[in-house]
Amino acid sequence: MTTVALSEAEIYDLAQTCLLANGCDETNASASARTISSAERAGAVSHGLFRLPGYLKSLKSGKVNGHARPKETHLTQSAIRLDGDRGFAPLAIEYGTPLLAAAAEQSGVAVLLIRNSFHFAALWPEVEALARHNLVGLACTVHTPMMAPFGAKTAFFSTNPISFAYPRPGKDPYVFDMATSAKARGDIGVAARDGHELPPGTGLDSAGNPTTDAKKVHDGGVILPFGGYKGSMIATMIELLAAGLVGDYFSYEAVKADNRDGGPAIGGEFILAMSPEVLAGPGWAEHSDGFLTELENMEGVRLPGQRRFEASREDGPIEVNKDLVNSLRSAT
Ligand code: NDP
Repeated sequence: MTTVALSEAEIYDLAQTCLLANGCDETNASASARTISSAERAGAVSHGLFRLPGYLKSLKSGKVNGHARPKETHLTQSAIRLDGDRGFAPLAIEYGTPLLAAAAEQSGVAVLLIRNSFHFAALWPEVEALARHNLVGLACTVHTPMMAPFGAKTAFFSTNPISFAYPRPGKDPYVFDMATSAKARGDIGVAARDGHELPPGTGLDSAGNPTTDAKKVHDGGVILPFGGYKGSMIATMIELLAAGLVGDYFSYEAVKADNRDGGPAIGGEFILAMSPEVLAGPGWAEHSDGFLTELENMEGVRLPGQRRFEASREDGPIEVNKDLVNSLRSAT
């Protein structure tokens, strides 16, 4: 793969220019461009510029509203429903996070239920933003079927990601963000493009046979859950939270509503925020930090998020696939 070195600002500019040229207004383009450039900076290749062609396809097909203005409804003091106005999720998340944080700080626990939006990104930004407010965050979303439930050979769940963050005042929060599939589909797409093999147990081919060929899993095959039936149960919980409780599409419903333009599918996102100051009371930070310090000092252990935080602190150029950059430049 030939790469080209770009700064984070250049990646942001390229993403924003492409989004503006293809139907987003400034507010929507900037929110999605921030998500894309921060993913590239964090080394999350499959959620950076790699996703942009999909964003552009959905703007061109008219599926996604590039002029979205999210609108909230306070169901109760601690439950906020946010209508994403058929826009990309980053704007809804940026708009809804301060509302959610304020509700959690007041009530101890609050939920943000995002409907009618299109999620195509990593899930750490939403929970990390809550942790920066000294709140615990948990988020999950669904899209369209691409993962087989444990025991099945056909897709029913999406790769159903879940993220969690716990604040550590004065330090980086504890953050994990993971697909409940053995591998995220974006990473399988990157492996298929770059000719890399997948670890055994990642997926099945179109005939339902186990394979390590990324192309066979990506094109017509199916991804398997992580951890067998345990991953399958967590994926089920995510469908129930992000679709059942939010009141938006389950993965198997979203695919029927989708125009298959190659971009994200409509769906909901469930975001829970909890205040340790209210729930645990004074001393929570030292108490929890003692536990996490014991954990991270154990030989062989590294905390999730650590690699990403280190990558995010770099300010040098980022190597990006050259063909992708050239094709995006021609879309501006
Ligand atoms: P990974 O398996 O790469 O990483 C999952 C988590 O594990 C990360 O928090 C990572 O931290 C941590 N981790 C990795 N290795 C170690 C280790 N050795 N020790 C401790 N922690 C570790 O992510 P996935 O492939 O599962 O998911 C990739 C991304 O895809 C996620 O951001 C997810 O949100 C996104 N996604 C989005 C979807 C959508 O619909 N929008 C659908 C599915 C996935 P670190 O980052 O520091 O390495």
